This record gives sequence, structure tokens and C-alpha cells, in this order.
Amino acid sequence: MSDDTSRFFAGGGIQVSAPGRVNLLGEHTDYNDGFVLPVAIPQRTHVQVAPSIDSRFHVYSSNLDENAEFDADGDLPDGYARYVAGCIRVLRDHGIDVPPLSMKVHSDVPMGSGLSSSAALEVAVLRALRQMLRLDLDDVQIAQYAQAAEIRYAGVQCGIMDQMASSLADTGHMLFLDTRTLERRVLPMPKDTELIVIDSGVARTLATSKYNERFAECREAARLLGVPMLRDVTDVAALDVLPATLQKRARHVVTENARVLAAIADGVDGAAFGKLMNASHASLRDDYEVSVPALDTLCDMLRAEAGVYGARLTGAGFGGACVALCAKSRAAAIATAVTQRYNHDRLLQLAGVLLPAPDADADQPQPLFD
Ligand code: ADP
Ligand code: MG
Repeated sequence: MSDDTSRFFAGGGIQVSAPGRVNLLGEHTDYNDGFVLPVAIPQRTHVQVAPSIDSRFHVYSSNLDENAEFDADGDLPDGYARYVAGCIRVLRDHGIDVPPLSMKVHSDVPMGSGLSSSAALEVAVLRALRQMLRLDLDDVQIAQYAQAAEIRYAGVQCGIMDQMASSLADTGHMLFLDTRTLERRVLPMPKDTELIVIDSGVARTLATSKYNERFAECREAARLLGVPMLRDVTDVAALDVLPATLQKRARHVVTENARVLAAIADGVDGAAFGKLMNASHASLRDDYEVSVPALDTLCDMLRAEAGVYGARLTGAGFGGACVALCAKSRAAAIATAVTQRYNHDRLLQLAGVLLPAPDADADQPQPLFD
């Protein structure tokens, strides 16, 4: 990997970071004013920032080995630098002038796996700017500005979960968040449990378009029900008036909110929490229709292991990762076993794509070449 930053990065400056997150329950609820339950993951995005050597902004991502340049005004850069430029634009939208800067980005949060590398990048950039420019911003404001950067400038109609998790959560606790009021509670994990996160390796090709489609379906369902947001519905019977597809979408949101609240009630153990995760996956697969076969298979494999309480896709779906809850001290062994089996089956499947399809006339000799 060539680090071509010496041209614009004199060195020094300050270095900060922000974590990715895994969401345990409350999927596709945050843009409906609902409840979520993420945990920060140990993987983080690091940003080093120093004054620019000229009048432009420069950014380099070592993950992509890609440089980008942009100005404070004028066109936004394409690609990943848009998240960075978006953060700077949001500060300017709030009357904060940002002088030209050079930045280096490096992350071990997997990109596009539903573990929120985009929010980790935004929060790390905003933390760097807060420190460098001595801005009077608290962690909730950082999350709000980061979300605004993603909506206004990256074009994703995201809720605030990812940015709140990256800005406020830690790796040892669940962050219960009411995305309407931003009321939050830092809660212990269910007793004697551990988490497993496995990436399916399936790229989320349709993620943004389908995500924005689900967003629009939820808004339409709320409009037809005469409520500000689907969060305002708690009884699934109220959804009977909706057309079939919108009814399914709304049912996911209503039941998912109930699952988050059930999960944070007193005395919920690993087994009870795991059941809620399994039910969440079924709802995402059948009602919200954001799962794909690889995620269903991975969850089944995880659930088949002794010591696993439950498993579900995590993040927006259409690919990305699964999360499972298991008995303490079992995570490493289970993750190794499941990853091996999953990769083995996937390789066979990929090989199957390359083999000729079984032919009805298989007993006839086939010419090798025409
Ligand atoms: P997720 O947030 O679940 O990882 P997203 O599609 O929301 O998936 O965000 C992924 C995008 O964020 C990447 O395609 C890239 O544009 C940007 N990104 C995140 N981290 C980095 C990084 N370290 N370097 C460059 N771009 C990054
Ligand atoms: Mg993201």
C-alpha cells in the first residue's frame, strides 16, 4: 500500500478515533423514532489531522489507498471523501469556520458490513475537528452533526443510532436509546454471555436503494395510519387497515420496538434475550424482507451450535454481518467452527456456479467445443 501523503501531510497534528458498533436489537427502527440497543465493537476508525499545506482540504484513506482533495465551498468530492467533506459542511452550516486541513484515515472497522464504518468515520472526523479547533460540542451534538453529514451530504436517510453508538457507546455495555427523545441507558449485557459477529462476505449491493425504499414505505404507512411516526403505534391490530406490503413493513417496526423494550426488562437472561434476537431475524426476513439466503444460513449455523442463545442479521441487511449471543467463554470456539463450515459451504456453492448445470440429456455425449 503506498502512503502518498507526504505531499500534503507535514506530519504531527492530532490523532483521535471512534468505534464501529454492532446492533443487538432494534433494526430499522431508528428512522421511525423507535428504540435501539447497540454495543460498540473493539474495531475503530483513526483520524490524524493537521493544518493543510495549501488552501485545500486533503484526505487519504489507507483502507482504500485513495487521496481526495476538496474546497470548503464548491463541489463535494465523490466517494468516501464525501463523508469527510460532509462533516466539514455541517460545521459550516452551524456557523463554524473550518480552516483547510489535511487528514489521514485508517480503520479496522469492516466497510459495508453493517458494523457502521460510515458513522465511525464521521464521528472520528468530528472528534478530530472538535479537538483541533477547540469546539464546544458534546458527544450528542457530535452524533447529531455526524448524522446530518450522512443525510445531507452522503444522501443516506439514516436514523441516529449509528452515530450515537459510535459517539457514546462502549464495548462492555448495551446502549439503550430512544431515538425520539435521545433518552438513553447504559446497561450490562445479559449475565454470563458473549457476542459473536461474523461477516457473511456478501456485499450489500442493493443496500442504499432498498434502504431508502423501506424508509419511504414506513413514512407512507405512518401517513395512512395518521400518526407522526410508526413509533406511535404499539398495537399490531391497528395495522389491519394498511395495504399488505405496508402492513408487513409496519408490523416489523412495531414488533421490533416491543422486542427492544422486552430485552431491557429486569431479569432477562441470555436464553430470553436470544429468543428475541431469533424473532427479530424472522421479522426482518419475512416482514421487512431485508435478509438474503447467506444471512439466513449463517444464523442457522450459529443457532445449531451448543451454547448459542440466538442469532440475527445486524445492520440494514441485504448482506453484511450476523450477530449471535452465546454462553460465556464459548464465543471464540463457536466463531471458529461456524466460520469454517460457512466458508466451506460457500466455496462449494461458488464452485457449483462454475460447474455446468445438470442436463436432462446427460447420458448423451456432449461436445466439449462447438
Ligand atoms: P457501514 O457503515 O455499515 O460500514 P456504509 O455503506 O454506511 O456501511 O458505509 C461504508 C462507506 O463508508 C464506505 O463505502 C466508504 O465510503 C466509507 N468509509 C467508511 N470507513 C472508511 C475508511 N476507513 N476509509 C474510507 N472510506 C470509509
Ligand atoms: Mg453506515
